[in-house]
Amino acid sequence: MSKTIAITNQKGGVGKTTTSVNLGACLASLGKKVLLVDIDPQGNTTSGIGVNKADVENCIYDVLINDIHPKDATVETKIPNLSIIPATIQLAGAEIELVPTISREVRLKKSLQLVEHLYDYILIDCPPSLGILTINSLTASDSVIIPIQCEYYALEGLSQLLNTVRLVQKHLNTSLQIEGVLLTMFDARTNLGIQVIEEVKKYFQQKVYQTIIPRNVRLSEAPSHGQSIITYDPRSKGAEVYLELAKEVISLEQTTR
Ligand code: ADP
Ligand code: MG
Repeated sequence: MSKTIAITNQKGGVGKTTTSVNLGACLASLGKKVLLVDIDPQGNTTSGIGVNKADVENCIYDVLINDIHPKDATVETKIPNLSIIPATIQLAGAEIELVPTISREVRLKKSLQLVEHLYDYILIDCPPSLGILTINSLTASDSVIIPIQCEYYALEGLSQLLNTVRLVQKHLNTSLQIEGVLLTMFDARTNLGIQVIEEVKKYFQQKVYQTIIPRNVRLSEAPSHGQSIITYDPRSKGAEVYLELAKEVISLEQTTR
């Protein structure tokens, strides 16, 4: 059975894209068939996995607005089992263009339904906002992964995000669940990071992944080489933890929290 997961947090810079690329690559390396969907106009997942935006024929914009079949917008990456529907800057117009269209919130869901049987996991990298693109992503998903940076104000804005999740559950997607909360960019040398972990665990309890992503310079270097961490530096701490996360995601499939 296929599972669609939105990686979302309206805060920028919390590790959504890093998690989409590297969780996707690690799930693929464990033999799962994975589709990444880049729905952030910045297209960082697209370039981060090594797809040249200038070469993109159809992107997620064409799927959402021009009714292009998602298969015709899917590009294979260099990693076996890992495909992507890329985003280009064209997507920046979609927020406005979708406003007057019929069933604008369910467009992504309807499209992805055409291809979900081809994948074990579909991971959607959301933009840093709670606009129509994020609503489309939440409506299309079985669950959400919320990355939270181990920094000051980590919990700020989360009530807004959870409120949006509840609204989508009520009106558009009753079966949407919280898949897990992922602590990112942890720095073991500071007390702050430990405090944030405690705070987030108090709030989300057993929804917090046991895997915590530390700050790792190799993780921040990999995107500029158009590579995931498992090809850029398979022996790095970053590769180790994202592989651990992928295993945790798979194992939680068999149990219910
Ligand atoms: P978002 O998609 O939420 O905006 P990104 O994944 O793009 O966040 O991360 C923001 C920045 O932090 C990027 O430059 C990225 O390379 C860097 N980064 C993300 N996770 C880590 C990490 N664990 N260690 C070091 N740098 C990281
Ligand atoms: Mg991003």
